[in-house]
Amino acid sequence: MYFDCTTRNFAAIEVAPDAPAVIARERCLTWRELHTEAQAWCRRAGEFGLARDLPIMIRGHKEASFMVALCGALMLGAPFVPLDTLYPAQRVNGIAAALEATLLYDAGTDCFEVLRAGPPRALQERDLAYIMFTSGTTGVPKGVQIGIEGVCALSAWMDADFGLGPTPVFLNQAAFSFDLSMYSVFGALGSGGAIVLLDRTAAAVALEVAALIAQHAVTVWVSTPSFAQQQLLNPGFTAAALPSLRTLLFCGEPLPTPLARQLRQRFPGVPILNTYGPTEATVATTLLALEESHLAGDGGVLPIGRPKRDSLVYCDDGELCIVGAHVMRGYLNRADLNQSRMFLRNGQRGFRTGDLGSVDASGMLYCHGRSDDQIKLNGYRMELLEIDAALGALPGNRPAASVPLRRPNGTVARLVAYVETGTPDAVLPVELAQWKTLLAQRLPAYMIPSELRGCIRLPVSLNYKIDREQLAQAYRNGTAP
Ligand code: AMP
Repeated sequence: MYFDCTTRNFAAIEVAPDAPAVIARERCLTWRELHTEAQAWCRRAGEFGLARDLPIMIRGHKEASFMVALCGALMLGAPFVPLDTLYPAQRVNGIAAALEATLLYDAGTDCFEVLRAGPPRALQERDLAYIMFTSGTTGVPKGVQIGIEGVCALSAWMDADFGLGPTPVFLNQAAFSFDLSMYSVFGALGSGGAIVLLDRTAAAVALEVAALIAQHAVTVWVSTPSFAQQQLLNPGFTAAALPSLRTLLFCGEPLPTPLARQLRQRFPGVPILNTYGPTEATVATTLLALEESHLAGDGGVLPIGRPKRDSLVYCDDGELCIVGAHVMRGYLNRADLNQSRMFLRNGQRGFRTGDLGSVDASGMLYCHGRSDDQIKLNGYRMELLEIDAALGALPGNRPAASVPLRRPNGTVARLVAYVETGTPDAVLPVELAQWKTLLAQRLPAYMIPSELRGCIRLPVSLNYKIDREQLAQAYRNGTAP
């Protein structure tokens, strides 16, 4: 059995219905059980008025019921909005308001919550698969609307070009609110394979991660490079100890050459796939199966490969641009951004990524980082301007700036912040004593700077933007900015 995204329904239901489909900490579901539970979920959601083109917020963290709800929503044609329990209530409320959503399903309690009375409002965009909220520069997350055609194309691409073999078993580590997790969701659903949901507690212990891989014979590792780096601390993270692993699949941030080399040593002969793409273009758009020649390089950034067969990727004035059916339908209610970031080319949607790129004579693509203030920290995408806005809303409403501290290879190791206090010492006024707790009401924990220091005035660069580089230098030197 498998889930056919084109028909939005389970297919080949008589084929291996007792094979595992979803493996979670609290319970496992066979394909037959997933099918039956998804049908029951549709009935229950229908009683609450959920129907085609109405958004359904799904909150939870790696429960089997989360997968049931995702399937149910796809069957109903109701775009799902995945929200990890990492998100503070204020953020969830803001998202609900932006969607004008009336219904939330909590996978932890298996309960529906009616968010507001009155008739639900259908979304303007029809036939979406999901809406993923990512960090937004204005201080409010922005909703990336992905059409069903985007996920159909993703499944087809994985099937045709990833070499994952029959009934792959995927590791699912990234939170459902990040599109990286959709790799294993649609990879497993589309192939009739299985998905192993790794919760945060297990993910924090490398030995437990390896034990789960062994126990469930995971064949496809899916993560950011940062998460794989942590596993290297476990000497048992090797092909000898984990013989089921057939593919190491990466996306979401640059894959450093030294990490790729170590993985090649630990997993000789196991394909390492470096894929690239923003949430705005359904998980990934380019693919590179690493070869020895790539690893022999000078240790810099690895190429990101070539565009998937039904898409076009090119550099315009040094910026990577993506064209294809898998490009989002637009940001929800953000005509301004849709105007500046999206375009049409030969009748297909295009997206300006904000990534600096290049392409060599053979058509091989490279990504050289961002042209704006979007960063990745521990694999999480965030806009520094959103963090600045939250810092600026702390008591006193002082100007403040978040500052990424980078490693020599350019990746962000840590985030700190400065706030204008008017005094030369770094000490914070009393009213800011609880700054971390206050920020946590608004931002998920992974976006909260590890330190906040006072300064007389935030330095600005020649174009009157906050000079984060100068702040980073001051931090490193221990001097007052
Ligand atoms: P997200 O929307 O969270 O998937 O983040 C997308 C951004 O992550 C891209 O615009 C790039 O800046 C970065 N990114 C994703 N994959 C890669 C990769 N393989 N190499 C370099 N940067 C990447």
